[in-house]
Amino acid sequence: MIRGSTELVGIVGSPIAQVKSPENFNAWFAEQGRDVAMIAIDMQEPALDGFLAALRGWKNLRGCVVTVPYKQVLSTRLDAVSERSAALRSVNVIRREADGRLVGDIVDGEGFLNAARKHRFDPSGKRALVVGSGGVGSAIAYSLCQGGVTRLAIADLSAERVESLCALLRQAFPAIDIGGGYASLADFDLVVNASPVGMGDTGELPLPQSLLETLSKHCLVADVVTSPEITPLLAFARRMGCTVQTGPEMAFAQVGNLGHFMGVTPLEI
Ligand code: NAD
Repeated sequence: MIRGSTELVGIVGSPIAQVKSPENFNAWFAEQGRDVAMIAIDMQEPALDGFLAALRGWKNLRGCVVTVPYKQVLSTRLDAVSERSAALRSVNVIRREADGRLVGDIVDGEGFLNAARKHRFDPSGKRALVVGSGGVGSAIAYSLCQGGVTRLAIADLSAERVESLCALLRQAFPAIDIGGGYASLADFDLVVNASPVGMGDTGELPLPQSLLETLSKHCLVADVVTSPEITPLLAFARRMGCTVQTGPEMAFAQVGNLGHFMGVTPLEI
């Protein structure tokens, strides 16, 4: 129940009815007996500046998750952002400081790694392939570099997008072997699909089957697509004997990262 004393967090986007965060957060707050609630905010773009001004003055609001289509535009309008948000020009969470300043970060990549650690995957010293270099793929790639991978390959239909992400990452992480081609997947410790391929019932694979047949059974194969939970890629990887990580696992792990940044949950929930 929302009371006079209840502290609030928001999730802002447009449209907003499809998001799952309010259920996930509010179930956790209720289970823990916490006097905190998440509200979903469908905001029109012309009102964003007024919205930010309201957030700065909103004393019982701890922060706000940011979703499509405002991740990029809000990254330029906050009082401070993390180094990775500045590099990727994207935020997916805002914290309101006690003095009203708004601070942003992008924690999709950390959510991904949080889920991967549950499969005993530690990025340090590993070789990874990320398919899809959009919002989520860039954030995962950045966090893998922060986590100490030694090699990172990136694939996307858009060669231009791959090149600009590689250039940005090489500048931030000069010691890591970033980019480059691959004739086989045998050397990768992690292959992650961060593109929408496999969503719904298309049955599509994000990489050619002949390449997927070269997967090592020691490779963790992950997908960010949440529906279906076992995508065609994950079903294929299971048949190859690989450990798999699903999109819902990443989404759930990220609740801890988002809540921790806003100061309303621990990192591991
Ligand atoms: P985006 O549009 O920013 O990026 C998608 C990228 O995939 C684009 O660069 C596109 O060129 C590339 N792509 C498309 N088809 C491809 C193919 N066949 N091969 C290689 N690259 C291809 O989208 P986004 O915001 O990064 O989201 C990607 C997916 O992640 C969506 O399906 C979204 O639902 C999902 N998602 C999952 C979580 C989670 O927690 N599991 C969180 C956010 C988003």
